[in-house]
Amino acid sequence: MFGDSKYLSDAAHFPGGHAERVVIPRSLDEIPGIVRAAATILTIGAQSSLTGGATPMGETVLSTEKLTRILDIGRAHITVEAGVPVAAIQEALALRGAWFPPAPTFTGALAGGIVATNAAGAATFRHGSVRSWVNAITVVLADGSELAIKRRDARARNGSLRVKAHGRAIEIRVPSYRMPDVVKISAGYFARPDMDLIDLFIGSEGTLGVITTITFRTLSPVPTSALALIPCRSEQEALALVADLRKEPSIAAIEHMDRRCLEILHEDGADRQHDVSFPADTELALLLQMELPAGTTEGDAFAEIESSLSPGAPATSLRRVCRLLDAHGVFDDTEMALPGNARRAGQLIAIREAVPAGVNQRVGRAQREIDPRIAKTAADMIVPFDRFGGMMQIYREGFAARGLDFAVWGHISDGNVHPNVLPRSYEDVERGKDAILFFGREVARLGGCPLAEHGVGRNPIKQTLLRELYGDAGIDQMRAVKRALDPEWKFAPGVIFPEP
Ligand SMILES: Cc1cc2nc3c(=O)[nH]c(=O)nc-3n(C[C@H](O)[C@H](O)[C@H](O)COP(=O)(O)OP(=O)(O)OC[C@H]3O[C@@H](n4cnc5c(N)ncnc54)[C@H](O)[C@@H]3O)c2cc1C
Repeated sequence: MFGDSKYLSDAAHFPGGHAERVVIPRSLDEIPGIVRAAATILTIGAQSSLTGGATPMGETVLSTEKLTRILDIGRAHITVEAGVPVAAIQEALALRGAWFPPAPTFTGALAGGIVATNAAGAATFRHGSVRSWVNAITVVLADGSELAIKRRDARARNGSLRVKAHGRAIEIRVPSYRMPDVVKISAGYFARPDMDLIDLFIGSEGTLGVITTITFRTLSPVPTSALALIPCRSEQEALALVADLRKEPSIAAIEHMDRRCLEILHEDGADRQHDVSFPADTELALLLQMELPAGTTEGDAFAEIESSLSPGAPATSLRRVCRLLDAHGVFDDTEMALPGNARRAGQLIAIREAVPAGVNQRVGRAQREIDPRIAKTAADMIVPFDRFGGMMQIYREGFAARGLDFAVWGHISDGNVHPNVLPRSYEDVERGKDAILFFGREVARLGGCPLAEHGVGRNPIKQTLLRELYGDAGIDQMRAVKRALDPEWKFAPGVIFPEP
């Protein structure tokens, strides 16, 4: 058994990680042999998984970290090996005036990892999740054979996908469950009657094969970014504002931090560190990310804001946003980081990132000082935006009924936020899990999905939420898909659903 703890856990700190061995191929040619030789394989990227999906449980770990070649960059695409970090993709594209819009917040994640989890990012509201940016992939299947898949080359017909694999034609029955109609979803296998074969592998969390190369669609030019931090006096006021802002094409994302998040920032001194203050009656804060036309300077933006409330000024995208802020009574309290002011933009982003960091620190402290069984107890749920207020009320009432301290933050423009318990005892963790299962059912009832962007992994609550979403029959249909491609259950056993 392998003893180097470096590869034995991921960002979820899922307990009990152990591996048969760790292999780190330096070239793609090595992968078929590795797969053929191993009894079971767990492919890993940067192990930033928040679900335990990148924590080995006795498998051979196949790390993609040395597969870092950029194979091709064209006018509107980039082809990379699976181990290229998102940051390196952005850097290579930036040299050509292009970018990759659905990048997740953690840009150390690797290309294979973000495809395997169908990651989403800050700009997903405007640009979608990783799925819609994948044009082609190469996958090494369980027998070591290679499958090259281009989008639109193979679609499901009569409820089945046909694949040439293991030296023969294989039929895969498309699961019949209906996926919730939301803008981002990372909840087991993608399934639609006329689905594209490539979509089966995107979001399959390493359970169907090793993704070795990916061609991503890219965009140019790189827009100019501007940020706005908006204190709101009530959730109702914030929801009305967000509903209007969502109609503005320049809005890439709107992030949300509730009152408890703001208290955490204050308790930790993060507000003072980043030179941010909120009016005393602030109930929640929004962080707006705008994409302005490429080349917009700080001076241009300043002039537009100055003149935004004069009736004669042309309605540019920035002026329209300012007018909306004014109409909702928050213009005077809003702070903007204009294009070119990277220092201020960095501070506003740091404020948002200090929230999960502060919560994770508290969980870690409680684990050390109160009870080692205490763990992060959080959810990642999404509803159509018009039901967002209903979801928040369910969170508040559900946590209050269980006597829990909690904070909620996330991507309000997508209708996707992360309710987190601030545990003071192990009983709080148990009650928090109960609350999350309850929320999952309620979110599904509202037409949403209890698993939006982090995937399912090995997390027992997430696996339960998935089973409740699609039923035992749905899980059996996923197992049948896996069996067709991976008859010996070689890849990532126990990830997404338990072994049969
Ligand atoms: C600070 C922080 C911020 C985050 N922000 C976001 C965010 O904004 N949006 C978001 O969606 N997620 C976010 N995450 C979660 C995580 O970054 C994503 O899930 C990411 O896509 C995982 O990439 P990775 O390279 O680390 O993959 P890993 O964590 O190593 O693996 C994740 C899963 O993918 C499988 N896998 C990895 N590579 C391959 C491959 N080549 N072939 C087949 N299967 C593979 C693994 O088996 C595993 O099941 C965040 C995590 C952290 C710690």
